[in-house]
Formats: sequence, structure tokens, C-alpha cells
Amino acid sequence: MNKILNFHLVNDAEWFDKIICLTKSKYTMVDIDMLSRYYDGKVKLKNACHITIDDGDKTFYDIIYPVLKKYNVPASLYVSPKIFNEHINYWFQEIEGYDPDTVKQIVAEMAGVDAGALQPFEFWDIMKTMPVEKIQEVLNRYRERTGTVLKPYQNMSIAELKEVDAHGLVTIGGHTMNHPILQNETDASSQYEISHSIAELAELLGHPVKCFSYPNGIPGYDFTDRERNTLKESGISVAFSTEATNFSKTDNRYSIPRIGVSNSESMLFLKVKLFAGPLWLILKKLKKSGEYVARAQIKKILSA
Ligand SMILES: [Zn+2]
Repeated sequence: MNKILNFHLVNDAEWFDKIICLTKSKYTMVDIDMLSRYYDGKVKLKNACHITIDDGDKTFYDIIYPVLKKYNVPASLYVSPKIFNEHINYWFQEIEGYDPDTVKQIVAEMAGVDAGALQPFEFWDIMKTMPVEKIQEVLNRYRERTGTVLKPYQNMSIAELKEVDAHGLVTIGGHTMNHPILQNETDASSQYEISHSIAELAELLGHPVKCFSYPNGIPGYDFTDRERNTLKESGISVAFSTEATNFSKTDNRYSIPRIGVSNSESMLFLKVKLFAGPLWLILKKLKKSGEYVARAQIKKILSA
């Protein structure tokens, strides 16, 4: 059983320490180079685990990174270089806490549809149906209308990112420029989001970037072969989805599955998730498919 775990925001150091300690006791922890060599067919992996973290908010440096160093566990971190270079938050950080009804009203106005039609849907599902330029416009209109100001910066500093990179335990990879659902973007925009993020990150770090993770990350819904091909052309060696299953040789190296682990999960549930059978994978799939059914319905409404 080979697994890749995926973390985002971690607020609880003790919780993260327990997970890493537990995982390390049961698995051989491998780095990105080892995974690349596995997909090159050069090494075999058995009972291997790799840790990934998306986005690069402050909690990575303050909470996750010290634990990784304590246990000497390799990992990879996926970030947008734009966030660091422009010292801005991701759209999903900025929109957190906004009033859902006002957001729905603005989306409906922009699409020229009745706001009532969006009422049954989750606010996040609605946002995930739009190109990122439209999402930014929703945010701008919301701030203007309600007098809301931009939030304080929530991510790591450039100095922290460079320090992590120089240390060598954590490999840093691309995660687009603006964190769009790539499938909602035009060909040109998808190409830009991927290749520019890789080039700009390489410039920031002073060396080539070899890995990438897709925002949201479900194959077929959030990205397709269009994105896989751009990554291949950009010199990327491995790219990660959020398809929640174990990884194996038969995977496409540009959509390697990862199992998401979130802050709110109890230790008991995590033990089941990390070490037991596939039941929770099925549950996870059911939950995810709900999101995609909703997104298809919302797209229909907004394009009516
Ligand atoms: Zn992300």
C-alpha cells in the first residue's frame, strides 16, 4: 500500500505531530526524487508514503515545517509564486467569511440570472464554476458594495519560502498563478496559469521546478489532458491530483492520486483512513461526486 497524503491549513501542532509520528512508524517516507524515479521505472516502492502540502500559508512555516524537521520527514509544498511576489492572499482566503447571500446576488447579477436560482447551492460550489477572472470580479464588487477591506497577508514570506527551499527537506512545486479551476479557463489562460507559475517560481527559487499540484485537483472535472500536456512541455516530472486513492505504477505521472487529510478529522478516523481498507475511499467519492453534480447544475443556470 503506497500513499501520498495532502494537507492544506494546519492549526494544531500536536495533531500534526501525532499524524506524522504515526505515519512514519508504519511507512517508509519518500521524497519527490524517489517518486520521480519510481515513475521512471528505476525503483520499486512498497509501503511508501509521501507528504504534500498545498498553498503555502503561514501555518506551513509555523506549524508543519518544524514537525517535518523534528522527524526528518521529506515533503513537497505547492505554491503560487504570484502570492509571494505580490504579497497577496489567494481568492479563497479573501472570500472566506463573506456573506453567501450577497456573493450569490453579485454572481447572479453578473450572469443576468435570478438570484433565487442559486439559492439551493453551496457558495463554494458556485465559485468553482467560474473562470478565475470572474471570481476576482465578484470579490471586487463585493468589497465595493459592502465596504470590506482586503485581509492581512496570510501566507509565508519570500524569506521563509527561500529558507525552506535551501534546507532541502521540502521540495517546492508549482500550483498555478491565481489558483483557478483550470477546467474553467480558456486554452490560453490554462497554459499561462501552469507554465508561467513554473517559470516564475523557478526564477524566485533560482533553480528549475520539477513538480506541480492542481488546484482542487479531480481528474476530468478540474483538469484534463490539456493540462497534463502543458505540464509535460514545461519540464515537470510529477503532478498531483486529489483523487483519493493509493498510488501505483499504473498512474499517469501527471495525475498521481493523493489522500486529503484535514484538520477537523479525529485521530480514530485518520487511523482508518491511513491504514485500513477502502471503505472510506468510497465514502469520499460519494461526497465529491455531490460537488460535481452541483457544479454542473450551477453552470447550466449561469449560462442560461
Ligand atoms: Zn490550493
